[in-house]
Amino acid sequence: MTDTLYAVYGASGFGREVLPVARKQMEKADPSGQLVFIDDGDLNGPINGYEVLSYPEFLFQSHSTKKVTVAIANSEIRQRVAQTLKADGVSFWDVQADNVEVLDGVQFDEGVLLCPFVTLTSNIRIGKQFHANIYSYVAHDCVIGDFVTFAPRVCCNGNVHIEDHAYIGTGAVLKQGAPGEPLVIGRGAVVGMGAVVTKNVPPGAVVVGNPAKPFVKPST
Ligand code: UDP
Repeated sequence: MTDTLYAVYGASGFGREVLPVARKQMEKADPSGQLVFIDDGDLNGPINGYEVLSYPEFLFQSHSTKKVTVAIANSEIRQRVAQTLKADGVSFWDVQADNVEVLDGVQFDEGVLLCPFVTLTSNIRIGKQFHANIYSYVAHDCVIGDFVTFAPRVCCNGNVHIEDHAYIGTGAVLKQGAPGEPLVIGRGAVVGMGAVVTKNVPPGAVVVGNPAKPFVKPST
C-alpha cells in the first residue's frame, strides 16, 4: 500500500482528456494511489468526479510522495509549471495510454505525456514535457526538443527535427527528411492544422496550407 498522491495539472479541456488515461495507468501500477486535478484558475470541483486543488492546496496535502503530469497545452505555461514543480521537489509523472506503441531505441526526457493511439517508432530522441495528442505518430530518427506539443493526428515522418516549444496542429503532415539532412521545424514555430510541411520552418514562423507557407493575416 503506497501513500502517493497523483495529479493532473490543468483541469480544462486537455486535462479532462488526460485524467482517465492517467487513472488507468495509476490503477494498474498503484491501485491504492489517490488522483486529483490541480488547477489555479477559478474552476470548481469536483470535475468528472475528481477533486480540483489549487497548487498551494496540493502542496499542503500530507502524502509522502506526490507525482504530477502537466496537462496544459501551452508550452510556455507548461515550462513555468514544470520549473515550479521541480523547485518544490515534486516528481514528474510520465503518462502514456495503454495502447501506445513505443518501438526500439526511443529515449525520453522527463514529463512525457502520450495520449491514446500514439505510435513512436524506432531511434527517436524526445525532450522534456512532450505532449503527443491522440492518433499522432513520430517515425524513425526524429529528434524532438523540449516543451513540444502535438495536437491530434500529427504525422511526423522520419528524420524530422523539431526544436523547443514548437506547436504542431491537428492533422499536420511533416515530410520525411534524410539522414544528415533532416527537415527542421524551428524553435517556437507553429504548424497550422492540416498543413503539409515540405521544407524547413524557421524559428517562430507560423505556416499553413499544402504545401505549407508562412501565414499572412488577412487584411480587414
Ligand atoms: N492553469 C493553471 N495554472 C497556471 C496556468 C494555467 O492551473 O499557471 C490552468 C488554467 O486554469 C486552465 C488550464 O490550465 O484550466 C489550461 O486550460 P486551457 O483551456 O487554456 O488549455 P488546454 O491546455 O486545456 O488545452
